[in-house]
Amino acid sequence: MSVRVLKTAVRDVPDFPKAGILFKDITPVLRDPKLFKAAVDIFVRRHKGKGITRVAAIDARGFLFGSAIAYRLKAGLVPIRKKGKLPYSCHEESYDLEYGSATLSVHTDAFSLGDKVLLMDDLLATGGTALASARLIERAGGSVAEIDFLIELAFLGGRQKLAGYPVYAPIVYG
Ligand code: AMP
Repeated sequence: MSVRVLKTAVRDVPDFPKAGILFKDITPVLRDPKLFKAAVDIFVRRHKGKGITRVAAIDARGFLFGSAIAYRLKAGLVPIRKKGKLPYSCHEESYDLEYGSATLSVHTDAFSLGDKVLLMDDLLATGGTALASARLIERAGGSVAEIDFLIELAFLGGRQKLAGYPVYAPIVYG
């Protein structure tokens, strides 16, 4: 299964969730067993045997890939969630959105010192979400081995915002 086939399956939805946004809909990849397996396998092959001890997955679409990847890598799974969703004591990081700001959180005991963490989300846009997540991992004692996405919108410069971290995305637009 080639990356091109996966890319073809990603559906463009114009003006969602608001006018001017071209939303990359991954549900056609998720619903097809061969495509879903191919997407997960890309990351499993990349990281197998490299000592990843935790996969941190970003709320909410990062969970869909991150949990399957963690299971296959025999790594632990750590959810990075929107503020107010995690029940135990949390670290929090706020970051700017186009309008206003958002806050992400992670449990203070999510990582052990020396944990090698793969950070996972579905899509890299401006990079603010992933940068706040990487900071949360470090504040909680983990070390970010790589930040991976299924899709990168390269024209938004997220990779530059994440300078200093290894970044990988198989499907790239522009
Ligand atoms: P950013 O912080 O700008 O990199 O935004 C990344 C987050 O927003 C990810 O969790 C994505 O799921 C979501 N996102 C941003 N832009 C899009 C888009 N065009 N299509 C789908 N999801 C998006």
